[in-house]
Amino acid sequence: MPAIWRFKKFTIYLPTMGLQMASLNSGSNGNCYYIGNGHDAVLIDIGLSLRETEIRLKQLQLSVNTIRAVFISHEHTDHIRGVSTFANKYKLPIYITPATAKFGPRLIRPLSKSFEANQPIFIGDGDNDNTALMVTPFKKEHDAADPHSFIVSYQGIHIGVITDIGIACDRVAHYFQQCHAAFLESNYDEVLLRTGRYSQPLKDRISNGKGHISNRQALDLFRHYRPKHMSHLLLSHLSKENNQPEIALNTFLPHAGQTNISIASRYEVSNMFTIESAHTYALSLLSTPKPVVKAVQGNLFG
Ligand SMILES: [Zn+2]
Ligand SMILES: [Zn+2]
Repeated sequence: MPAIWRFKKFTIYLPTMGLQMASLNSGSNGNCYYIGNGHDAVLIDIGLSLRETEIRLKQLQLSVNTIRAVFISHEHTDHIRGVSTFANKYKLPIYITPATAKFGPRLIRPLSKSFEANQPIFIGDGDNDNTALMVTPFKKEHDAADPHSFIVSYQGIHIGVITDIGIACDRVAHYFQQCHAAFLESNYDEVLLRTGRYSQPLKDRISNGKGHISNRQALDLFRHYRPKHMSHLLLSHLSKENNQPEIALNTFLPHAGQTNISIASRYEVSNMFTIESAHTYALSLLSTPKPVVKAVQGNLFG
């Protein structure tokens, strides 16, 4: 059957440098997420003060010198508190949409660069994710001017930063199922919210599809759309009042499978995780002079 042999492919796996990820803090008291590849890095949101951001980078043994840009998901204070001072001090561009910038501190504007949903931005050398970090924003449901989530990619590895989502909409499902790791909101326990001391209007605002998602909603997303290659999930933006880390963890652990589940704390930095994958190269059995024909990337944007 020579025709079959002619087109038959096989795969080899080559190690990559991996992508590092950590939460500096996660929750309504301040959000800041670090993703980098060793020489280039981005921060998603800076909801901590300048000083606290610097302290936590030190705790993670991260150099500010590798941070190339800050991306802003939306204008709520817990996502932008320290962005102006940090970006000004270190002369970093702030990627923010014009609609969000309108509501942010005035200092953001001189340093700001725009982005559009589903249009990747390359940070570092070149215009592909083999040499540069690729940041892909996508729109989310949240009670803000122009809110976005992000996927940060490098050499075929994809990490999602998906918090402050009112619902796990189709866009979230689409991108989540490409992720090797993710910060995923798991904001509240439904019973604690229902029986808690918040006013009814506030309870409604949290759970009406434009606020936050519950542990159960996050778990539903995970159970239905978690890809086989997802190695790490950090449950994020947990409510102080309506959730507890143990409750969120115990919700997920029976369904964890091969995925390492942990909490992005609202009090301290997380561990630093290195997310590794492998390129899949398709080799033609018949083309011996130049064996590596094509790198087959994950179908993130297809
Ligand atoms: Zn928030
Ligand atoms: Zn928010």
